[in-house]
Amino acid sequence: MIEPNYSCGACPLCREGNWNLCAERVAVGIDIDGCFAEVVRVPLRCCWPVPDGVSDEAAVITEPLAVVVRAVQRAVPRPGESAAVVGGGALGLLALQVLRARGARVLVVGRTSRRFALADALGAERTHRVSDGPLGAVAREFSRREGVDLVIETAGTAEAVEHAIDLVRPGGRVVLTGLPHEPTTLSFFSIVRREITILGSMIYQREFGDALELLRCGAVKTDRLVSPRFRLEHLAEALLAHRDATAVKIVVAPRP
Ligand SMILES: [Zn+2]
Repeated sequence: MIEPNYSCGACPLCREGNWNLCAERVAVGIDIDGCFAEVVRVPLRCCWPVPDGVSDEAAVITEPLAVVVRAVQRAVPRPGESAAVVGGGALGLLALQVLRARGARVLVVGRTSRRFALADALGAERTHRVSDGPLGAVAREFSRREGVDLVIETAGTAEAVEHAIDLVRPGGRVVLTGLPHEPTTLSFFSIVRREITILGSMIYQREFGDALELLRCGAVKTDRLVSPRFRLEHLAEALLAHRDATAVKIVVAPRP
């Protein structure tokens, strides 16, 4: 597996281990040509051996899983805590599983119920569609207190950030992994008055090892998250499948 992001290794941020925050960070497929090729070159430090027993199809999930491992770790979940995941996409369904592996009870909140059956199968204790009722009440009922202890936001919209704030209890933690581009009307009054901790989480630093271990030990299941392989010459079909996906992640292989 490769980390498709690499930093300069020399700036103050890199030297203190904050590689993910390096201003010179290179993202393969964004800053330089991507991986839709038979061969790609990356620095050796970005290459990870895949453990025995982890299939190629599972291994392709390592990168988004590492993003989520970092986000969940930023919230420091304790066993038995209640957690909410906002968003039912790939990151949301992975966050659900990492939180379960860390011993948390998980409520999944989404705008549509399309992925709720899958979330149930992957360990969600409860699912809730945003339009089906006020989030604060759902969080209080689920947590049996003032709201959930922590929220992992994966949807990347300003609205999703507001949902996260509605779900969390006073003194709770909210981790943002999506990248909302639009301004938000978030009420800071509620954040100060309830002493909510809001943390950003940007890709990963050292989390690839943990992600590979979660795949190896079976705590994170990927078989229903990835599509059958598309061959590279069928890339256009793969991109169409991504737009109208029954699978969550589309796999393109350079060779059959
Ligand atoms: Zn750097």
